[in-house]
Amino acid sequence: MSVCSEIPYHVDLEEARKAIVESGASKVVIQLPDGLKQYSIDIAECLKSMIPEDVEVYVHADSVYGSCDIQYGQLWATLKPSLIVHIGHSPYPGELAGPFVEPWEGLGVRVVYVKALSKLTVSSDVIREAAGILKGYNVRTVGLVATAQHTHILGEVAGALESEGLKPLIPRGFRPYFDDGQIIGCDYRLARLLRVDGFAYVGGGVFHPLGLYLATFKPVVKIDPYEGKAVDMTPEGERVYKVRLYKVMEAFKAERWAVIVGLKTGQYRPWLVERIAREMEARGKRYVLVASENLTLQSLMALDNRWVQAFSVTSCPRLPTDDYWDYHKPVLTPGETIMALRGELEPYRFPW
Ligand code: SF4
Repeated sequence: MSVCSEIPYHVDLEEARKAIVESGASKVVIQLPDGLKQYSIDIAECLKSMIPEDVEVYVHADSVYGSCDIQYGQLWATLKPSLIVHIGHSPYPGELAGPFVEPWEGLGVRVVYVKALSKLTVSSDVIREAAGILKGYNVRTVGLVATAQHTHILGEVAGALESEGLKPLIPRGFRPYFDDGQIIGCDYRLARLLRVDGFAYVGGGVFHPLGLYLATFKPVVKIDPYEGKAVDMTPEGERVYKVRLYKVMEAFKAERWAVIVGLKTGQYRPWLVERIAREMEARGKRYVLVASENLTLQSLMALDNRWVQAFSVTSCPRLPTDDYWDYHKPVLTPGETIMALRGELEPYRFPW
């Protein structure tokens, strides 16, 4: 059986099985985002039932924040798996990362990306609620987007929104990075391609819909299959936007910067570091490059001193907006750094 049927996600392991058998892999690591870790043992058992008994299967317990975060370095230095089965994310778009986003290929380590499609659906009551919120903003044409776990129900949601008198549009994806309508926390290009009055986001949490607002400035309603409700994310998006502008303004006068350079495979962006460094040099600003794999509040505080007046984070651009927005010194995304250096409050650049 190639599908783990006991869990609330459709996880088709056939491609992983094929890759393991064809490559003769002897050691395999399964990676999952934290939200899916509770099913990791079921998935490992399921995979083990499909492959030769002598293949060692490990579950990677550390937090994996996205496909930007394969943690290839540590794995290669120790376990040396010949295959990583990365569940729940699509490959990270190469153009956002450094030139070596998939270095394992040259060393005989392969990464197989496996989707985890949620089995949850959305009721017509929730759709009606979402349509009501959107109509309150005079939205008629609505862009439909989702995280990787829910893109497969966008067609169904579109049909239901149509019945409520709206005109839904699902942006076309580009594979292997994005399915139709798929967004990730640092890439809203698909949404931006659409000429619509507002957006409906299908998925849980606030992380993705807030990013969607910051990237589009259109009304955003969240259709949440986990909580079974529709939530207007627009007011919270506006609030976060105001905080971000304040942080940019605070950094206008910063003369000395710490530029955080990401050490995770997909968060190492030398082209971006170079762009920011050139911009700083052109304006006579001073900066120090700081390499970091996991920028925690503790590491930020430990690093901070009287010299540093502002931080620019080129690793995960959501750290400034979601984790360190209330730090006592400005911690900015790359786009915000450029705004601050140029002394501009508009256009708001998010996130790059
Ligand atoms: S938002 Fe951050 S964690 Fe998520 S994919 Fe982008 S860089 Fe990775």
